[in-house]
Amino acid sequence: MITRRAALTGLIATIAAQDLKAQTKNTLFLSAKTSFLHDPGPGWPDRPNRITSILDALKTPEFAGLVRQEAPSADTQCILRVHTQQLIRLLEKATPKTGFSALDHDVTLNSHSLTAAIESAGGAITATDAVMRGVAHNSFVATRPPGHHALANQAMGFCLFNNVAIAAVHARERYNVERIAIVDFDVHHGNGVQDFFWNDKNTFYASTHQMPLYPGTGALNETGAFNNIVNAPLRRGDCGDQFQEALKTRILPGLDNFAPDLIFLCAGFDAHIHDPLGGLRLLEEDFRQVTLRIMEIAQRRCHNRIVSLLEGGYAPQDLASSVAAHIKALMDV
Ligand SMILES: [Zn+2]
Repeated sequence: MITRRAALTGLIATIAAQDLKAQTKNTLFLSAKTSFLHDPGPGWPDRPNRITSILDALKTPEFAGLVRQEAPSADTQCILRVHTQQLIRLLEKATPKTGFSALDHDVTLNSHSLTAAIESAGGAITATDAVMRGVAHNSFVATRPPGHHALANQAMGFCLFNNVAIAAVHARERYNVERIAIVDFDVHHGNGVQDFFWNDKNTFYASTHQMPLYPGTGALNETGAFNNIVNAPLRRGDCGDQFQEALKTRILPGLDNFAPDLIFLCAGFDAHIHDPLGGLRLLEEDFRQVTLRIMEIAQRRCHNRIVSLLEGGYAPQDLASSVAAHIKALMDV
């Protein structure tokens, strides 16, 4: 039998929980003005209009509740926990005053590129802070350049700094987060992320990607020093069925067993059927489904904590609709 006192205590607890929920910003959306200014030049697929399209798609009433914030610059110290001083100097030296400067065959800079990369990393750090402090359940960072190919000493594949690695190391240093999971559904394998965490038993990296494709890594037998890496390569032409099967049989059980304290997503949308760089055939619904499945694990394992970072996606309209499906799912915590 429920006593009056117990009922009252329960009522107070319910009201407190409702108040807390009302105060909680469910999903934090970060963007940066320099994302529009970083321009690798004509003909490159990583164009500023990728972000413009996303912002346009988020103007509809269903996203009115999205809390939006500008990404600040990352502290150099945070970048240096992951990258070498030599790389930063190289990027500074290569930054042109006007026009474009080719650093590598797939990394080209203009005068704003380095600042944009520092703000991309800053967005990832701010999103991590918000989620770890409970200001937001989850967060999506829509900045460019992307990050998952960048190595400690090398920019590559449109990526200058490895945003997710910087944010993951920040989470560990600043909040003592022990077990960190990174799930990557970009059409390309995140070689940089795998490289950073290959020997780290407390970091789990799982990726679906097309293979063979740039950068060439991500085979099934690449499992990390502690079986902390799960690669689920897909074949050109694979669609949602194969993607969902890879999630169900390999990625999600691995993620759940790992029992993460915080989940990062390398959210690339270039596995979309219309993407010019990839050969997979995913649809918006596939991106919604992967988001929901990971949210279920986040709810059970780590208080809903998800920090999602934009990676690829080079058909601007399809990128925008895919990001919208992803964020809509994230908002429904
Ligand atoms: Zn990609």
